[in-house]
Amino acid sequence: MRSLETLRHYKAYRTSAFAREERGRVAILFGGMTSRHERLAAAAIRSLGHRVELLPNPGKRDFDAGKELIDPGACCPAYFTAGCLANVLRDKVAHEGRDAVARNYVFLTAGGCGACRFGQYRESYALALENIGLADFRMFNFVQDELVTPSRARGGLELDAPFILGVVWAFMCADLLGDLAYMARPYELVPGETDRALAASLERLERAFRERPRQRLGVSTLGWYLGSGYFERILREIASLWGAIRVDRLRVKPKVKVTGEFWLQLHEGEGNYDIKRWLEQEGAEVDTTAISIWIDYLLYDAIGRLAQRREAVAHYAWKRAWLRLTRGAFLRAYRRLRAALLDLPHALPSQDELVRLAAPFYRFPLNGGEGHLLVAKALLAHRHRLAHMVCELAPYGCLPSTTSVGVMAHVLGKHPDLLYAPIEVKGDAEVHALSRCQMILTEAKRRAQQEFARALSETGLSVQRIREWEARHPAAQRLDAPVARRGLAGTAANYVLYVAGEGAR
Ligand code: SF4
Repeated sequence: MRSLETLRHYKAYRTSAFAREERGRVAILFGGMTSRHERLAAAAIRSLGHRVELLPNPGKRDFDAGKELIDPGACCPAYFTAGCLANVLRDKVAHEGRDAVARNYVFLTAGGCGACRFGQYRESYALALENIGLADFRMFNFVQDELVTPSRARGGLELDAPFILGVVWAFMCADLLGDLAYMARPYELVPGETDRALAASLERLERAFRERPRQRLGVSTLGWYLGSGYFERILREIASLWGAIRVDRLRVKPKVKVTGEFWLQLHEGEGNYDIKRWLEQEGAEVDTTAISIWIDYLLYDAIGRLAQRREAVAHYAWKRAWLRLTRGAFLRAYRRLRAALLDLPHALPSQDELVRLAAPFYRFPLNGGEGHLLVAKALLAHRHRLAHMVCELAPYGCLPSTTSVGVMAHVLGKHPDLLYAPIEVKGDAEVHALSRCQMILTEAKRRAQQEFARALSETGLSVQRIREWEARHPAAQRLDAPVARRGLAGTAANYVLYVAGEGAR
């Protein structure tokens, strides 16, 4: 029997203070998004006088470390992200020493609550820190739908208006650039041109965050962000880079809507078998996700919940009005940034429409994980012919995703022609997951070809005739040609309708 002396009682992780004087000396570590989002958010945070270091993109080595260090049965994004933090800190300890690492770095992360393990990430990270001998390492966790400065971040870190608005604008810009990249890359005539435009855009935006006029921030940060037009001007400059990319829209490609758990659908790397790059290599066009959709969902969800409160009506009424204003300002800002990029990236989907589509299967405001969004996004892509196929990335060990995949069985019963590939991601089953996706992709390719052939026959055009027309109208092969969607899923089929509309028959 173990003696009482050997018992170690559980103690919740408690971080030490991060004093204001440490700002600029102590580096804030963060990561977990795409490199676009991280670079721009880091630039926004650095512009407030912080030191920031980005964590690397998590890979298999991190997944293995996560499995070794945190509680068994965690969801796979928790293994990847906790393992990544632990590996980075272990490397730093080897080079700089344990005490220096504990002194000179803090980790900033997000959390949530509900049916989702996001609320327990903090405990998983704390366990990983303890297991690598850094139990006193400072970690600050903000709850995604409250955005309150963690209590021990005494001046070292303040989630105030300049911080939050800088990060939100960084995310919107990163979303829009990512959308453009996924739109252009499969069709680019000069290989690598899209990635070069993306790299140049990110550099320009990082500089824009560095050089933004600080003196205005103290006056009215929100007013400056909404009214100065500063970022719109930068994006208009960047738009010319993207608009000039020459594309061949006659490449017939299935469009694949990638949905799934928040981290997995956003991630670009080994954490999700690099499935977006893989899909592009397999000849698909990927329609990816945006953090902005998630921000809009959080605001919409908060407004919906307040509407259901019966007690203290006046108190909730003003809070709801304030949230409505915030959401309106956010949506307006997104529209303006998108317009600065010639309206080329996708618009944000209507949250009302998403709720309406999901309602027969998954009720709003049931939440946890992505709530009704997975079912709604699949139906939106299918019903509005936005994609030929939906690929849903579901992490192993994720209760909300398991629920959504289960509900999708009902959806498929009602919509049997919806091409749906649920991919369970557990870090080490790549061949199985990708071959499953490939089976559905084969059918999506067939549908894209059929749709293209129908468009040609209905317009009386041929590929050769379109090529001749393009030779006389080279601007049609630029990314900024006004080739709007005309009710079909595929880019090539929509292009045929566009060319016909331009009188090429
Ligand atoms: S949604 Fe699923 S995978 Fe994501 S944090 Fe929650 S439980 Fe984990």
